[in-house]
Amino acid sequence: MSKKCIIFDLDGTIVDSMPILRSFVEHEGLLLDERDISALRDLPAGEALGRLGIGMWKLPYFAWRFRGYFRESLPKAVLISGIEEAVRRLYDEGHTLGVLTTNSRSNAIAVLERGGIGSRFSFVKSERNTFGKSKALRRIVNGYAMKPETVWYVGDEVRDMVAAREAGLRSLAVTWGFNSEKALRAANPDEIISRPDDLESVISRVIPN
Ligand SMILES: [Mg+2]
Repeated sequence: MSKKCIIFDLDGTIVDSMPILRSFVEHEGLLLDERDISALRDLPAGEALGRLGIGMWKLPYFAWRFRGYFRESLPKAVLISGIEEAVRRLYDEGHTLGVLTTNSRSNAIAVLERGGIGSRFSFVKSERNTFGKSKALRRIVNGYAMKPETVWYVGDEVRDMVAAREAGLRSLAVTWGFNSEKALRAANPDEIISRPDDLESVISRVIPN
């Protein structure tokens, strides 16, 4: 069986960050009801922030505030149900697993450790620039001398799919995070799944050329 490298986004993909996001939105005084939040899920992150009345120029500020809030909320953060098992199965198959997140590296490591899956990951990388993931993915692939066609980026947002494609990697969208299935499909990922259980079968099915 061919071994692959699977790089995961953290927030919304491994960690159930929607409850934290909801309480952050409330904390910042951004009054949103469930219908607003569900409408936001159809939009790429930049447009979603615009809809919230947050200008693009304020994005680094809010990303910084959210990281701080996320860090404080870590004791309450939970992993997506079923993701631990899915990660363990991929690891047991012999694939190399990693994380690339715009959250801080220490937040990522803490939450993975707490979920009991920290040791399954060969690397955890942080890219603070919200729209800098494609460059960061390229750096990882080049740094570890990987073949791009054997590397997957798994994420819950449209920008994750764009970053994977720009870096020449395979993209796998998960519908249990921030962006809706409709928005993710429009981004044309290589694969799309709605349950962590399907991770391993989808990745094993695709044989690199
Ligand atoms: Mg995410």
